[in-house]
Amino acid sequence: MVNISFLGGCREVGRSAILVESKSGVKCMLDYGIRFHGDERLPYETNIDNLKAVALTHCHIDHSGALPFLYKTKNIPFFTNSISLAVSEVLIKDMIKISNFNYPFGYRELDSLVQNSIFLKNGNRQKIHDNFFITFINAGHIPGSVSILIEVDNKKILYSGDINLQTTNLTNSANSRNIPEIDTLIIESTYALKQHPPREKLEKEFVEKIFNITDNGGKVLIPAFGVARSQEAMLILEKYNYDGTIFIDGLARKISMLYLNYPDFIKNIDLFKKALKKTQFVSKAKIRANIKNKNGVIISPSGMLKGGNAIDYIQSILPDPFSAVYLVGYQVEGTPGRKLLDNGIFEFKESRRNRKNSFDLNIEARCEYDYFDFSSHSDNIQIHNYIKGLDFRENSNRDIFCIHGDNKSTTYLASELANKNYNSVAPETGEVYQV
Ligand SMILES: [Zn+2]
Ligand SMILES: [Zn+2]
Repeated sequence: MVNISFLGGCREVGRSAILVESKSGVKCMLDYGIRFHGDERLPYETNIDNLKAVALTHCHIDHSGALPFLYKTKNIPFFTNSISLAVSEVLIKDMIKISNFNYPFGYRELDSLVQNSIFLKNGNRQKIHDNFFITFINAGHIPGSVSILIEVDNKKILYSGDINLQTTNLTNSANSRNIPEIDTLIIESTYALKQHPPREKLEKEFVEKIFNITDNGGKVLIPAFGVARSQEAMLILEKYNYDGTIFIDGLARKISMLYLNYPDFIKNIDLFKKALKKTQFVSKAKIRANIKNKNGVIISPSGMLKGGNAIDYIQSILPDPFSAVYLVGYQVEGTPGRKLLDNGIFEFKESRRNRKNSFDLNIEARCEYDYFDFSSHSDNIQIHNYIKGLDFRENSNRDIFCIHGDNKSTTYLASELANKNYNSVAPETGEVYQV
């Protein structure tokens, strides 16, 4: 029997962490992320004696953010790939700094994580102990993202991580058809209740609208997450030969430069380089202030307008009926981005020690604003297609665990799959299952 402990990411998006334990007590941790809000930021506490390996699906901090905690006192092999490690390092450092060193780990533990890293190529079966192997498989979510196949005591468990079945301009899509037969599946459910619009049509609409605004002298602010989404927006503009000026700011700038060092993980590195060459990097407040009077596209975090340099730009764009704010990622309830879409009002409060940099904004949008669903997760149909493409072993229980989604999404997916004769469940945090 193999034990699977669900330590987070259950009926929520945040602090993804799964512990797999063989019958002889050897343990492997899959992801170890943080939760963005609330008190319990770290995964559910459990006994990690005999932890022999840690493996990461991708750099997003809901999967990677708490990893340094596992390296407080121990040296454990950390399986990842070069791009995921490099981006994780940037994001975790940022996270520690922004929190004002409020996590039970710091730069020293992050350094220990990096020291223990071992790069794994997709498709290479890696032994972590007797009768215990892991294999990385492309997940299509962001550059470097993988699903993990775990082979332990003759059981084959597939952990999807975050998966995308639609091809984007930055990464090749996930494909479940070449995955060997499995016994158990652990799958993400983020958009199990949604259907994405056709990608090509959406891209065209997006670019057309941008052309319209900038041709008429306006500015377009694209608040986007600095990892992958900003670069995807940049690539879409390049694909449709956008010839206006594009400014890139903040983390989006940093990650774009970093991606250049990992060409093997970028779908079309030549297109990426071409796109990047045409953009202008914004790194100083003075340049930022100048851009406010210029015409063009500004790509800047944060994606939900919760902070970052996007706040600087948006103040001059909101009152201008010739300009626009185009959101390109999902807007969580209660965030300034969501409120703007729902009510047409931008509210943002942030108090800083230096009062000059504090914000208390309540601005009615006279500019255009819209949301484009450039998701990097699979929707309901794609999740079902992914599962349809998998083969379960003849004598398996056809166990499927639905995680990484809110209560409604995970339980809905589990019930849909139960109707298709799978043994499916949406586990709760702290639960342990034997498979
Ligand atoms: Zn992710
Ligand atoms: Zn995630």
